[in-house]
Amino acid sequence: MSKLIAALDAQLAQIDAQSLRRRRRITESPSTPRVQVDGRSMLAFCSNDYLGLAAYPKIITALQQGAELYGAGSGASHLISGHSRAHAELEERLAAFVAPQIDNARALYFCTGYMANLAMLGALAGNDADLFSESLNHASLIDGARLSRANVQVYPHGDIEKLSALLAASTAAKKMVVTDSVFSMDGDLADLPRLLALCEQHDAWLVVDDAHGFGVLGAHGRGVLEHFNLRSPNLVYMGTLGKAAGVAGAFVAAHASVIEWMVQRARPYIYTTAAPPAVAHALLTSLDIIEGAEGTERRAQLQSLIALWQQTLKLNKWQAMESSTAIQPVVIGANDVAMQVAANLYERGIWVPAIRPPTVPVGTARLRVTLSAAHTADDVAQLVNVLQQLEKET
Ligand SMILES: *Cc1c(COP(=O)(O)O)cnc(C)c1O
Repeated sequence: MSKLIAALDAQLAQIDAQSLRRRRRITESPSTPRVQVDGRSMLAFCSNDYLGLAAYPKIITALQQGAELYGAGSGASHLISGHSRAHAELEERLAAFVAPQIDNARALYFCTGYMANLAMLGALAGNDADLFSESLNHASLIDGARLSRANVQVYPHGDIEKLSALLAASTAAKKMVVTDSVFSMDGDLADLPRLLALCEQHDAWLVVDDAHGFGVLGAHGRGVLEHFNLRSPNLVYMGTLGKAAGVAGAFVAAHASVIEWMVQRARPYIYTTAAPPAVAHALLTSLDIIEGAEGTERRAQLQSLIALWQQTLKLNKWQAMESSTAIQPVVIGANDVAMQVAANLYERGIWVPAIRPPTVPVGTARLRVTLSAAHTADDVAQLVNVLQQLEKET
């Protein structure tokens, strides 16, 4: 065998030895709480489809209409010929959506949140910047920080005192604090009001990744900035559109000058084919739903399920994390035990992902339960019962 392949196989064997091999399951139906997997109907608590829009008929119809209007592909990057009327309308709608939180807001649509984060940090930070990154930030922010060539300093989770000291000591020409709004593996919220006050005091950007807040948080689903009622020229906001919005892609919203700079300079924006216009067209319908009465109802349903979960789940050995959001992790500890619990749940018809290092710290392998407005109270009760039973048996 080739030496190169043998070296990789040895590394893969190490992954197995640590119970860290990841496998993909193949789904055969839309992403709903009852999902068909390998010919079997499972009750799923895996998706980030918090409002239950991923398989919503009105959005499916809009996607079909978009394909009829614009075809299947965009044909080119945005700066060549791929920027369609649908993309332009979506950006205008998104800018209006966040306008109460951001002065002179403009929005830029991306194929994925991962790329939006690379583009945003790469365009705004450079080797003359100090970039302060929260320790539990999403991988795409970590990679974006690396790609930006900024001097990166990681501050411990939620440690605003430490961040304050780091900012005070910085003499960099540009300063930037970068954080998730809702931490994706823990479900807790960053203290954005304090972070923003600190950034304003130090003339620093506050870059917020609201992947798990957009559509869900705030009275109109505008996200974490609406939730905390924040407004500032220092804010740079990223929201994703493949989670609560149910389709795909992401956007950055900020002062128009920030966005224009990104159009000119952000390589992950410039050098990639624009997403299919039909996707942007479908997202217009998602936004209608999010900001309308249906969105309000769906957010209320989600809140009632979160309350039900918190009030009914009683664990002894395992630990339900403190979270007020749709992300409700249960910490098990060891990788192999977490995997076994997930497998036992699966055997009983319930699909919950086990999350292991390096996604979470060593020794805190966990079940990541995500709730959706598409779940029923019975679904949640079923999960609570089976989990409590499994804890006794494990
Ligand atoms: C999912 C996620 C992303 C990436 O968004 P995609 O559109 O899935 O690429 C970025 N940041 C956070 C916090 C996320 O959870």
